[in-house]
Amino acid sequence: LSSRLQNVFSKLKGKGKVSEEDVNDAMREVRLALLEADVNFKVVKEFISKVKEKAIGQEVMKSFTPAMVVIDIVNKELTELMGGAQSKLAKSNRPPTVILMVGLQGAGKTTASGKLAKLLQKQNHKPMLVAADIYRPAAIKQLQTLGEQLKVPVFALGDQVSPVEIAKQGIEQAKQEHHDYVIIDTAGRLQIDESLMEELKQIKDAVQPDEVLLVVDAMIGQEAVNVAESFHHQLELSGIVLTKLDGDTRGGAAISVKAVTGCPIKFAGMGEKLDALEPFHPERMASRILGMGDMLTLIEKAQTTIDTEKAKELERKMRKAEFTFEDFLEQMEQVKKLGPLDQVLDMLPGMGKMKGMKNLNVDEKQMARVVAIVKSMTKEEKQNPELLNASRRKRIAEGSGNSIQEVNRLIKQFEEMRKMMKQFSSMMGNKKQMKKLG
Ligand code: GDP
Ligand code: MG
Repeated sequence: LSSRLQNVFSKLKGKGKVSEEDVNDAMREVRLALLEADVNFKVVKEFISKVKEKAIGQEVMKSFTPAMVVIDIVNKELTELMGGAQSKLAKSNRPPTVILMVGLQGAGKTTASGKLAKLLQKQNHKPMLVAADIYRPAAIKQLQTLGEQLKVPVFALGDQVSPVEIAKQGIEQAKQEHHDYVIIDTAGRLQIDESLMEELKQIKDAVQPDEVLLVVDAMIGQEAVNVAESFHHQLELSGIVLTKLDGDTRGGAAISVKAVTGCPIKFAGMGEKLDALEPFHPERMASRILGMGDMLTLIEKAQTTIDTEKAKELERKMRKAEFTFEDFLEQMEQVKKLGPLDQVLDMLPGMGKMKGMKNLNVDEKQMARVVAIVKSMTKEEKQNPELLNASRRKRIAEGSGNSIQEVNRLIKQFEEMRKMMKQFSSMMGNKKQMKKLG
């Protein structure tokens, strides 16, 4: 327990400015998180150096730790990297607005076309779908089935007419029927190939779409870079739809595709169902990729709840080894103010993972027990733990509803903690050592 608490406490101490060492420490975690999330390594490298530049020398507010400041910058930069604010769908002032869906086979183009139609429908638009994938068996039928479910008309001319012709005639029909959006579902290939690109280019030239949306499967990770690069090079994309984010992928593809194409990610596919398409929120994606839960919430909470003056006093006491059970209790209360302990740990980078480890299981009850034991001590005992002999321990155990073993364990931990603090204080001259241990 004590090592866990120390870990939390150490994160709550204030400091003057962010040093290069602080940044390097924090960035090691961030780098790992990004690579784990399958972000392209070149993109990671560039990103890290940019954040470092921004972070070093930043002021650290009283109740923040340098790590928090760095993470805050990371979050903002990552959000920025993915486009900053949420990006809207284009709207032509000469309806219909034409949306061309492109991407590899299986990326989710047809599904996304249906989902997009549904989203537009909900916003009181009148979308029409166009079935321009004549290659994949049953591709037309698939779109027609979606159309039936949504009660959105699907324009199709079978698989004997060229996709260019289908697209052109589809738009004509949409005009006549006063549809304000036309979504063209196209064919994909398992890999990027010349004839596919050529055909897509022809469709694009023929219909002059307002949007060319690349549909990318978030699960393909690193490969997303190549896919996005070649599609953008050939077709000049206007936006990206990232699908299958409901899977266990961390979504590093989101960063890569945006970084490579510069195109905003407009939508996120969150499932197979037709209502599983959401406008893409860069800031949410940033925290997902970093796997740090809601870091910003923690920072805000820390700002409002940690009493910095008290924290300073405690730090002074720790250094002088005057730390008592009363101080211990106070620190517990401070940590508790942040919220349920397991949630607090969730919010700290790296801690989420640690929680899964057996001996690091966070136990609220255990914490409550500790508080009960300390509260059963007299004022004298709290200030002078040396007084805690066998009979006193027995009394405390009974008073707090715990076993003697538990009381003994806590006192032992407390003594160890004190011992460590003494060691800290003897090392005070050497700040670097302090930081490593704290
Ligand atoms: P296309 O070849 O690009 O047209 O891909 P499809 O739209 O036919 O989708 C391929 C498969 O991926 C289908 O089984 C879809 O149900 C599935 N799919 C599409 N989008 C999503 C998504 O956001 N989440 C999940 N879990 N599956 C999806
Ligand atoms: Mg399809």
